[in-house]
Amino acid sequence: MVKAFVFIDALGWKQAERYGFLSDILPHRRAIEMQFGYSCTAIPTILTGERPSVHGHLAFYDYAPSKSPFKAMRLVAPFLKPRGFWQRGRVRGQLSKLVKRLYGFTGYFQLYGVPVERLPLLDYCEKTDLFVKGGLAPVKNLADVWSEKGMRHLISDWRLPESENFRIAAEAFRKGEIDRAFVYSAAFDAIQHDNVGRDEVLRPKVDAYAETIRGLHRALVEGGRPFELTVFSDHGMTPLRGTADAPAAIAKTGLAWGKDYASVIDSTMARFWWLADGAEAKVRTAFKDFKGHWLSEEEMQHHGVWREDRKFGDAIFLADPGIQFCPSDMGVKPLNGMHGYDPSDADSTACFLSTAPVPSDVRRVCDYFRAMA
Ligand SMILES: [Zn+2]
Repeated sequence: MVKAFVFIDALGWKQAERYGFLSDILPHRRAIEMQFGYSCTAIPTILTGERPSVHGHLAFYDYAPSKSPFKAMRLVAPFLKPRGFWQRGRVRGQLSKLVKRLYGFTGYFQLYGVPVERLPLLDYCEKTDLFVKGGLAPVKNLADVWSEKGMRHLISDWRLPESENFRIAAEAFRKGEIDRAFVYSAAFDAIQHDNVGRDEVLRPKVDAYAETIRGLHRALVEGGRPFELTVFSDHGMTPLRGTADAPAAIAKTGLAWGKDYASVIDSTMARFWWLADGAEAKVRTAFKDFKGHWLSEEEMQHHGVWREDRKFGDAIFLADPGIQFCPSDMGVKPLNGMHGYDPSDADSTACFLSTAPVPSDVRRVCDYFRAMA
């Protein structure tokens, strides 16, 4: 049996159903619980079947002074002033490219809004290409498993335009060159962030994906072998309902970053490492009016993000669905939509759509791997 898996970043269950996305050729459909975190959490989860507590990827940056690949930036950081200039989007884009090249990172790399002077104390999670063999070592990924099983397979190169990845996969199936494919597409995520709720923008984009996937379906038919085609996603998109200014709240405490506490403020999570006595109580008080809550250890375990080594933080404050931390270490402006909330949020729900019945044990994003491997 030939099997093709297509990943569409941020194609939520709500959108898939609303637009009747490929309901004729993919009649077997299930709403899927997203993996707590972001796309940078979901992709390693999809590629390994493990959750962040095992594969170690929750958000891009963690406070980890001993592991930071940016230690040498301690020398240049004082010269990277004034702050305003280095916070500009285009400048940071160029700086990201320079840092990526200097450090030889092969994974996706972005500085986002992280203050440059904090980098020497932070670790970055995607230093290597996650999709290739050994990309998530010591945990085995899809490339490792398909190779070990001797499967003739294709895993999309995320650096190529997605139309090219679809074309390559269709061609290989038509010619009977492969038995498995994982086709990766990420562009819909950015469209959703900007346009969530705007049917006039989203519907044509979703229709365009449907057309492309029909092309892949035709190629599978023309290949002449029995096949299964499955489309899945990692999460949906939740419309903006408000913002929370974490830096302003923390500033009022008088605590010093790197001395009393360390933090990484993601779009929907504020993660803290406590370095001095009393810091935790002050931050908790400063956050008391924000819409959201501090995750309990039980919740972290439930979400698969609990780690003894506290890699992801000593404490995590999760915003309520629709609330974005702004400014954050990810950027200075809120987006129209965001993901990374509690997985029970209906807007966050992902989808699994297939030509074949959905296996009964595929309920969460971490279950896709078993279906593929
Ligand atoms: Zn996104």
